[in-house]
Parts: sequence; structure tokens; C-alpha cells
Amino acid sequence: MIKGIAASPGISIGKAYVMRQEDAPVPKTEILETDVPSEIVRFEEALIKTRAEILETQKKISTEIGDAYGEIFTAHRMVLEDRTMIEEVISRLKKELLCVEYIFSEVLKRYSEAFSRVEDEYLRERVSDIQDVGRRLLRNLLGKERDSLSELKEEVIVVAHDISPSDTAMMHREKVIAFVTDIGGRTSHTAIMARSLEIPAVIGLEVVTKTVKNGDLLIVDGNHGIVIINPDSTVLKSYKEEKEIFEEFERGLLKLKDLPCQTLDGHVIELSANIELPEEILSVLAHGANGIGLYRTEYFYLNRKDLPTEDEQYDAYKYVASKISPNSVIIRTLDLGGDKFISQIEFPREMNPFLGWRAIRFCLAKPDIFKMQLKAILRASVHGNLKVMYPMISGVEELRAANGVLNEAKEELRSQNVPFDEKIKVGAMIEIPSAAMVCDILAREVSFFSIGTNDLIQYSLAVDRINEKVAYLYEPTHPAILRLIKRIIDVGHEMGIWVGMCGEMVSEPHLALFLLGLGLDEMSVSPVVIPEIKDVIRSVRLSHAREIVQEALNFDTGKEVDIFLRNKLKELVPTLRRDKESRWEEEHEIR
Ligand code: PEP
Ligand code: MG
Repeated sequence: MIKGIAASPGISIGKAYVMRQEDAPVPKTEILETDVPSEIVRFEEALIKTRAEILETQKKISTEIGDAYGEIFTAHRMVLEDRTMIEEVISRLKKELLCVEYIFSEVLKRYSEAFSRVEDEYLRERVSDIQDVGRRLLRNLLGKERDSLSELKEEVIVVAHDISPSDTAMMHREKVIAFVTDIGGRTSHTAIMARSLEIPAVIGLEVVTKTVKNGDLLIVDGNHGIVIINPDSTVLKSYKEEKEIFEEFERGLLKLKDLPCQTLDGHVIELSANIELPEEILSVLAHGANGIGLYRTEYFYLNRKDLPTEDEQYDAYKYVASKISPNSVIIRTLDLGGDKFISQIEFPREMNPFLGWRAIRFCLAKPDIFKMQLKAILRASVHGNLKVMYPMISGVEELRAANGVLNEAKEELRSQNVPFDEKIKVGAMIEIPSAAMVCDILAREVSFFSIGTNDLIQYSLAVDRINEKVAYLYEPTHPAILRLIKRIIDVGHEMGIWVGMCGEMVSEPHLALFLLGLGLDEMSVSPVVIPEIKDVIRSVRLSHAREIVQEALNFDTGKEVDIFLRNKLKELVPTLRRDKESRWEEEHEIR
């Protein structure tokens, strides 16, 4: 058994198809000076052919799963159209007098190495884009056919070092029943694709290509991030049962799509979705969300060379607003920094980026960028029900300063007679302990709070949210966290505003049960999790959830709370399948 990152839920059992990753050997042939023009022509032809292939893939993927995924290939085309790269190839060709495939492979290597060294995880992951494009172009230069996943004859589980977006796009959907890879982070396109295709996937397994052989029988458990190689008959039998139960459970859950999200005693909860890209809306609607509780707009700034213009942002926000209308969309303003950087703006190197120049701090330091985004949101607000939310508020001064820029944006639009929703609601994320402590002061300036537990937990417990070595200390059920959340909800209600949560904590069914009892008004989770959380809400009385909260708050340790809530959930919703084993057991292995 090997453990990795659970990238896409579900269970698959099947034969391994180990993708050959070896790159075609590139000949190092000397050429004459008189050959240079024809080598340049060959290079240009290969560029054109590769570009056409990428466009074809882009069209296919845009039609099948949405424009945002197709956009990944715009990044690929940008690599191909990079003048600096093309000029470097041509000038080295003239100088070194070696065949163009060799020169190109050397230039490609240099680019990949430069990208692998950058600290930003997102940019590092772009190495696979560069290599993917490079491999295609080399194949075309060498006149080789592509090794594709489109001609598979039987159902397989693809085992690869990495799976590129174009491999994914070209693969035979019915035949590929799961992916497993050695590498890949949470923001990798492979993970995004797997979830949107709803194919179970486990990534970041490190050694899977070394361990698995072609034809091995594999169990891929995308719910727990586990791969089992050549299981014995007992394990196989139990997983087959598990798979059937899980699939039946998923089908059953989708039936909840149009049912109200309310408790047995009639208490209604707003259940909304977190999105990163506008195209995820199809999935949001398919899973029956009430609206969007968190639109992480920074993703719009990431995969590109320039900053998005006000009009481009307006188009995206307008699209989301009108598709989700009359339900509401909470647009979170730029949350760059921390672990998300863009190349268009110079970020200082920081010792502690999560404690540094990020989110609202960055926006207030760059009021032009901030105001442009706010104007785009305001203009789009006439097309639906938009709300604005600021990330990383630490105290009221920041909140007032942000509202000051918003007022300037409104004033400018008014003076140009541009319509916008004058009553647009503004909220603050509560994700810093200081904000939780002064939330009574903050509540006077906003219409709602959304608790960002991903950050709130890391800052309260001093545990880096992306460091697996301290993951065992990252406890959503730590009594300190429960008390902080209780305070935010209680104070918000005393002050007459609603309180939601868009951090991952509320995606865990047993914790959603607790948060329901604590009085949370809104829960925002990734689209695929919506039916499961709705199931929990619909299976319990609010009065019972409140009693559970009273008991849970009496424990001394997070572990006791976690076990208690899991047991309560099992009693209330015995059919829930995606209940993970206790995180303490999982993290014991990490330690
Ligand atoms: C959070 O911190 O909980 C949150 C939802 O924001 P992000 O994960 O984007 O930091
Ligand atoms: Mg956050």
C-alpha cells in the first residue's frame, strides 16, 4: 500500500497501465552553415504543427469540460509563441551548427531548470506545461507518432510520473478509470482535471512508477489517497463491496440536489460552493448549491503574463453573477501572497510569506490594482446578486481602509454614470485570531463574516498549513479553535449579521454537524462535497446538533472531540460513506 494526496474522490479497481515517460532520444547532429535556413524552416513547421495540435486539444477540452480547462492550453501556446525562446533557438542554431532538435532540447532543458528553481509552488508546477509542449514539439521535429491514451483497448488505471493536461485531454474517457502519479501538488492541473472529470485519482505518491509494473492489479482509493498493489482476495473483496456501496451512496446523494438544505426540524442552512474558476459553475449547479460562498479571484491572475484588465474581470464576474442569479456570489478580493504569487508583480522574498505581504495588505499597498478589481465587481453587480469579501482582515483599520477604496471606486463609477448595485453587501473573512478577538468591532462595519479556517487554524495554533511535518498539530477540533469559532458566531449574531464558513473544516461531515449546532448560517464547500454535507444537515434536528455541541465543548483535547463527533455522526447518518478514518491515525504515519 502506498499513500499520497487524495486528489479526486471515488474507488477504482483495475489493471495498471504504466505510461512510458522516457523522452525520445534526441540526436546531436552537426550541420553545415548552408543547412541553417532549412533547419529554421523545419523548426517553424514544427511550431505550426504543434500549435495546430494544441488548438485541437484545446477545442476538444473546452467543449467537453469547459473553457477554463481549455485555457490551460493557452498557457501551452504561450510557451510556443515565446519570442525569447524562438530567438534563442535560432541564434544558437547559427552559432553552434547543430541540428535544430538538439538545440531546442537544450533550450527547453534550460527553461525547465530555471522554472524548477523558483520558490513559488504554482510557477514550479508550470514546468510540466513547458515539458509537455517541448515533448510535443520534439516529437513533431523527429517525425514520431505521439504515445497517446486515446487508443486504449481495455479499462486501465494510468500510472505515470506526472500526467500532463494534454494527456488528460486526449485520453479515452471510458477506458481510463483512475490516475495515479508520482508528483503533483494541490494546485496542479492534473488534480483540477481529475476532479472535474470525476475520475478517482491519487497524486504525489513519489514512488508509484517505480513500484508498479504494467498489468499489476491496483486499487485506487481516491477518498483516502491510497493505492494498493496486487491486493489479496480478502482486501479485493472488501474494496469491491466498498466501491459498490460508495457509488450507490454517490448516486443517492445526487438525488438530494433539488431538495432544501434544512434540518429535520425545519432550520434552513445556506449551502454554497467554493470556486476558483468561472467554469466550475456547471459543477456548482449540478451538485445543487445555493450560491457561491467563496470565489477565489486570484486564480484569474495566476496563469497569465499580464494583469487582467477591468473589462476582463467584469466579464468573468458578470458571467458568474448571471449564471448563479438570483442566488448570491461572494467575490473575495485578491488573496495573493502566502503561497500564491504572480510573475507580473515583484514580490519581495520573505522569511514568512504567510505572515507577510499578502491579501488585503498587498491590495491596500497597490490601490490601483485593488480599485480596478472593485470597479469590475461593482459594474458586474447589476447582473446578479454579488457580494464583496475582503481576505486577511486583522483589525478594523484595514477594514475601514478597504471600504475607503471601495467608496472611491463607487464614486468614480457614479461620476461616469455607470450603474452598480448601490446596496452591495460587504463582508470580512475572519481568518486571523486578532480579527476573531475584535469581531464585535468589525461587525459594525460589514454585513457578514465568513470564517476562513484554513488560515485561522494555522495562525491560532502556529502550524504552517502546508508543512506535512507539523500536520499532526493542525487540529480543527482543538478546543481553542472551537472556542474562537463559537465566539465569532455568537458575536456576529449579537451584532445582527450572518456568519458563514468557507474554510475546509466545514467540508468534513462530522465537523459540519458540530458547526450546524454552533449556529453557523452558511456553509461553503467545494462542489463535489455539497450533496454529502446536505445529507448530514437533512439527517439531524437542530436541537440535537446543539446538544452535541454542548457535549463537544466539554472535552479537553481535539482528539476526544474528533472521535466523539465521528461517533455521533455514525449514529445519525450511518450510511455516510466518505467518512475518513480518524485523522490521528493517518497522521501517526506521518510522524
Ligand atoms: C481560508 O483561509 O480558510 C480560506 C478559505 O481561504 P484560502 O484557503 O484561500 O486561504
Ligand atoms: Mg485564507
